[in-house]
This record gives sequence, structure tokens and C-alpha cells, in this order.
Amino acid sequence: MNSENSFSQLLKSGGHIQSNASDCALCATPGGELVYQHTKFRVVWADEPLYPGFLRLIWQSHVPEFSQLSHEDRSLCMDAVVVLEQFALTHLKADKVNLATLGNVVPHLHWHVIPRFKGDAHFPAPVWAALPVQSATALTHQQQVIVQENNRLWACW
Ligand SMILES: [Zn+2]
Repeated sequence: MNSENSFSQLLKSGGHIQSNASDCALCATPGGELVYQHTKFRVVWADEPLYPGFLRLIWQSHVPEFSQLSHEDRSLCMDAVVVLEQFALTHLKADKVNLATLGNVVPHLHWHVIPRFKGDAHFPAPVWAALPVQSATALTHQQQVIVQENNRLWACW
């Protein structure tokens, strides 16, 4: 797995907001390790060290909002998200799956499919929440650095 995918690099850069396809990281790069390619979307491993199995479904064309898809494409997209959720539950044995689409920094339609486990760093809080102090003390130094960077970036939003 690529340890520095373009999505992570973008977040670490401070979140330069992209306004169109010409400067869009998800138009220019796969956005992670490609695991499935459809003509209208792709699925990539998000490479989030604290969250194994974190997937992103990225729409192929530069569309900022889910509502901008046709009815048919919205159905296709949601059916694919459901398949990924079921994969996380069945094969990864996730305790819960979190689904999210934000696009505040990268306004190119993508869905986060996040397998959650009762022992993960943030459970039951969202993965983007500040890390609880008691969880932070149980992490390795490298994980603590990642968490601190994650908390710093999300605090800026
Ligand atoms: Zn784009």
C-alpha cells in the first residue's frame, strides 16, 4: 500500500481548497491504491494506518455534489457503497461501518467507507474526532504522531 497517497498529502498540505477539475487531486491521481475500476467510479484503499480496510469510492467525473448525479448514477453509486459496506461487515468483521461524503477540501464526489472496530482509536466517536486522551497513551510513538497531525488538520476546519 502506498504510504503517502495523494489524498493524505493534500490533507497534510493544509487543505488547499480546489475549485475545479483542473486542479483537482482526484482528477489528476487515483487517490489511493486502486482496488476496483468501474467506468463511472473507482474504489481505492485509503491507507489510513489507524483504520485498516478504510475504502473510498471516487466518482470518475468531477462532480462536487451527490445531488448532481442523475437518478440512475445515484442509484449505481449507492448500490456500490452498499456492496463495500457489506464487504467490511462480512469479510473484515467490522463491528460497525461509517459512511460519509464530505468534499469540503476536495470537492470531487467520493464516499468514505470506514470499517469500525470497538477497539479502534476513536470508537465510538467519528474517526475525525480528536483522539481521547486514554486512547492516545496506548498508541506507539509513530501512531501518536499520526494522530496529532490528524487532530491538527481537522481542528483547522
Ligand atoms: Zn476532480
